[in-house]
Amino acid sequence: MKIQLIEAYKQPKNYSIYVVITIIILILIALCVLIPITIKNKGEIAKESQKQDENAIAMNTTNSISEQTPTEEEKNLPILTETGMQNISNIYCSEEKVAYLTFDDGPSESVTPLILDVLKNNNIKATFFVLGSRVELSPELVKRAYDEGHYIANHGYSHVYKQIYASPESILAEYTQTNDAIRVAIGEPEYQSHLLRFPGGSRGSAYEDVIQQSIELLKTNGITYLDWNALTGDSEGKKTKEAMLQRLQETVEGKNSVVILMHDASDKILTYEVLQDVINYLTEQGYRFGNMYDLIK
Ligand SMILES: [Zn+2]
Repeated sequence: MKIQLIEAYKQPKNYSIYVVITIIILILIALCVLIPITIKNKGEIAKESQKQDENAIAMNTTNSISEQTPTEEEKNLPILTETGMQNISNIYCSEEKVAYLTFDDGPSESVTPLILDVLKNNNIKATFFVLGSRVELSPELVKRAYDEGHYIANHGYSHVYKQIYASPESILAEYTQTNDAIRVAIGEPEYQSHLLRFPGGSRGSAYEDVIQQSIELLKTNGITYLDWNALTGDSEGKKTKEAMLQRLQETVEGKNSVVILMHDASDKILTYEVLQDVINYLTEQGYRFGNMYDLIK
């Protein structure tokens, strides 16, 4: 009886041992099953991320290859096609109101950076007809203008009429000399603006004959030219902002497409001072601002 009682007393204790053992076994089984799964998952995740890394490296490699050898279009280098030539010759035939801001005779340390600031604040891309001799003095300003999306065009090298207009060949030589200076300044050995503005304009000067003779020679070298049909009079001795705005209004009136002549030479601080008013006036008159990149392509 005593033994039976002891057995009966021991019985529950034995059961609890079995229960504990069973739990431990289950835990061990669970661990045996789960640990490899976890390890497998980790492996897969690691493999996955390795794959992603490889893909990223592959993409970067592709990008760096295209960065090394970008096409002219990717580099935003101007390309002058027959259509581009026609676009420039038909620039005044536009049915919509477009204003092209152009600045000649720069760059200059005192005026060009201020003009670039105003253009940046208004998100307007302009065209700079630079002089080769001044590009060599301030290449960083040409680089800045180019990097900020402005069109860097050509105004010859010397701006000395007797020199540049000695012959059609000397006009081409000044264009090339300036283009070389632009290439160095912006760090693009293949840059070619294709666009010349004759100092003094193509018409009405004592050099008109030689200028007209040079047009065919320039064309065979992939170069076209552009004058203007509106101006602020900043090179006509206008002494106040009001006088400049007046001159602008007179020359813009009744025209859809306006190519506006201004200057960013060192003595043209008034051109900078009136520029915001010029932009406001043209905006009020319903003009959008165009860029040579829209035409030369
Ligand atoms: Zn000029």
